[in-house]
Amino acid sequence: TAKGDGKGRSQIFHTQMDIDYHYRQRLKTDLREAVRTGSLTLAFQPLIDLETRRVVTCEALARWDHPDLGSIPPSTFIPLAEEIGLISDLTAWVLESATAQCSLWPGDVGVAINISARDFRGANMGWLVEQALLRSGLPAHRLEIEVTETAVIEEHDVALGVLRNLAAQGISIALDDFGTGYSSLSYLNALPFTKLKIDRSFVVDIGTNPRALRLLTNVARLGRDLNLTVVAEGVETQEQLNILVAHTRIQQVQGFLFSRPLPAHDIVELIAHFNAPPPPEAITRRHG
Ligand code: C2E
Ligand code: MG
Ligand code: MG
Ligand code: MG
Repeated sequence: TAKGDGKGRSQIFHTQMDIDYHYRQRLKTDLREAVRTGSLTLAFQPLIDLETRRVVTCEALARWDHPDLGSIPPSTFIPLAEEIGLISDLTAWVLESATAQCSLWPGDVGVAINISARDFRGANMGWLVEQALLRSGLPAHRLEIEVTETAVIEEHDVALGVLRNLAAQGISIALDDFGTGYSSLSYLNALPFTKLKIDRSFVVDIGTNPRALRLLTNVARLGRDLNLTVVAEGVETQEQLNILVAHTRIQQVQGFLFSRPLPAHDIVELIAHFNAPPPPEAITRRHG
């Protein structure tokens, strides 16, 4: 009967909810342990300057390889870490680890880390960053902090103070995933941003949709007019890159076309490869 079916469904529903609940509880417990024992890792993805074709920065992205459940994406474990009050410990670890790695990279290549809305509330971000720079010996201008519009708006009372403190230390502040949040343009002026990272959803269609390209072109122009370094995220194809170069004022690109996020030991090789000086014959030809 209809009544019986309804009962059956609701029972399945509860069972699924129980599974989800227990799964999430387990992830929370295990995540706490993973952060405590330092068993998360970082992957690094290069940002390439379009003029020099060199790696200028690498973004540090947290990775969790769970011993039984395999790789858990940050879109799952970052919100969990926020929920259980673990994010400040996680961010502190990312900061230490990313600055330590970066200090081993050749040249002036910088590192970018992502922070969450909750990190603003701790009120000691400025101090944590100062300590990480001291311990790693990394100059402040090689560290970049990425923050989303949503985080800035959620924590607008404290975000300004924290970001000003970081900027005063000489650290670059990037507005991440630009265009996907509330896009309250007034924040572009009120906060000390130095970089605008245009979300990959603006890039994905530019080869097939002229309106998408016009939108991207104008978002990039807005950023340049405000004296920000403009980055396109999620560049996956040569065609997208060619269009970006020909039609926009975007300065840096990040995406699978250049490299996926790589383990620490592979990123050193990638930087060395990309940033190697040109072979002598290329120099000769340029002068001849
Ligand atoms: P995000 O900061 O915007 O990082 C870029 C994301 O885009 C990364 O996903 C990267 O792997 C992905 N990506 C890069 N190039 C391409 C491309 O060409 N195509 C496509 N489809 N994707 C591309 P990932 O590593 O899964 O991270 C997702 C998000 O999780 C990050 O987005 C960031 O918001 C958050 N996250 C990652 N690590 C951390 C962390 O240590 N702390 C905090 N608070 N958040 C983090
Ligand atoms: Mg980011
Ligand atoms: Mg991003
Ligand atoms: Mg993004």
